[in-house]
Amino acid sequence: MHPQIIPRSEHPISRKNIHPDALKVMYRLVRKGFTAYLVGGGVRDLVLGRRPKDFDVSTNATPNQIKRTFRNCFLIGRRFRLVHIRFGNQIIETSTFRRCPELDDNDSEELYVFRDNCYGSPEEDALRRDFTINALFYEIKQFSIIDHVGGLSDIHKRLIRCIGDPNIRFREDPVRMIRAIRFASRLDFRIEPATFNAILRHHQEILKASPPRVFEELLKLFSYGCGEKAFRLLYKTGLLSDMLPEVADFLDHDHGQDSVLWAWLRHLDDRIRETHEHEPVLIFATLFHALVKRIVARQTAEYAARGENVILHDLLAEYLLPVCARICMPRWMAARMIQVMINQSRFVPDKRRRFSKRGFVAQDCFPESLALHELGLRVSGDDLGRCEPWSALHQEVQAQQLEPAAEMSSLPKPKRRSRKRPRRNRVVREH
Ligand code: ATP
Ligand code: MG
Repeated sequence: MHPQIIPRSEHPISRKNIHPDALKVMYRLVRKGFTAYLVGGGVRDLVLGRRPKDFDVSTNATPNQIKRTFRNCFLIGRRFRLVHIRFGNQIIETSTFRRCPELDDNDSEELYVFRDNCYGSPEEDALRRDFTINALFYEIKQFSIIDHVGGLSDIHKRLIRCIGDPNIRFREDPVRMIRAIRFASRLDFRIEPATFNAILRHHQEILKASPPRVFEELLKLFSYGCGEKAFRLLYKTGLLSDMLPEVADFLDHDHGQDSVLWAWLRHLDDRIRETHEHEPVLIFATLFHALVKRIVARQTAEYAARGENVILHDLLAEYLLPVCARICMPRWMAARMIQVMINQSRFVPDKRRRFSKRGFVAQDCFPESLALHELGLRVSGDDLGRCEPWSALHQEVQAQQLEPAAEMSSLPKPKRRSRKRPRRNRVVREH
């Protein structure tokens, strides 16, 4: 099938919005006689007038041919063999055109693709991509866009549409379902009905995907401050009950789409948009906070009925550590998240409990603890001024911790010790 070629005069992509290093890579490959296109999310974002996160290039040069063309490059990846071309801090990811691997007849029931490293034509490369909006190519001879899949029309219609049969594409790689939700929430696009229905039908396949990849994708849902919208979609499609059944169950018992959790996520999104900081510990603490609070309240009552005292840390660890291990959250992150949750009680004035405020604010996880407390105040509409004394004390303690280092740096440097061998040795050799 012939692709649609959109000439420069009919699309908004200008070379001045493309990173000069990406242009360098494309120009050099083309000069060597290869085909090279800007591909993927970069082209999509440029068409939408957004600043791309990264610039990826695809070419018909093989990884070894790319390596011979650029000295500053590294072959990476087990799943896909990719080339990273480095220019200072900037990396231009360059891949050879690939196609979907052919499946054996035996594999027809089991579509999950473990390796897809078969080289292919540019058209095959477009067809193996996930969504039409992610499969546009931009070339630097005529500066036109090459569209094999109707991606430009879907961008204009603001639609996320699978390339090919979504029932097959989601079973080949279930992580694409979370990606569909990520792009829909981040770009404020709709998921086209056949694609959406395929997610409803195959959401449980996500359990076959690699947990660390799923964990990474879950975090990415928050990266542009669109977590609330993304999680509403995860809940609606059933994906949430597969990945985080505890959170889905909490929502089921807390008015579903009207749950208090959505207010927490909304305020978290506001914070991420404001600070541009992506804080994984805070993200998961926010997700689990409301349901953990409910469990703690229930357990405390049960313990009290038995005349026993509840140890908060043990209770949280017993409940959360297996959940964190299941979703492949690193252990340090789980431990820090639990500490952030425990710390919440310290913000509540309680004359019976004495602790060192300075010690508390000096904790590594204090900033996330205060951030979670502040989100809670926003959710309940309480006075945010309550955070100010804590922020001030935190700054003061931090400044004091830095002081000794500053003082040390102003002291005269100790004299360097001579590396001369001790004289005695020489005397010994003379004998
Ligand atoms: P972002 O702006 O978040 O980086 P992106 O579209 O660039 O979005 P990447 O994860 O960087 O997403 O992937 C680059 C491109 O590779 C995608 O645009 C898509 O064409 C292709 N791709 C990525 N993951 C998959 C997948 N699971 N299945 C098929 N194609 C994929
Ligand atoms: Mg990208």
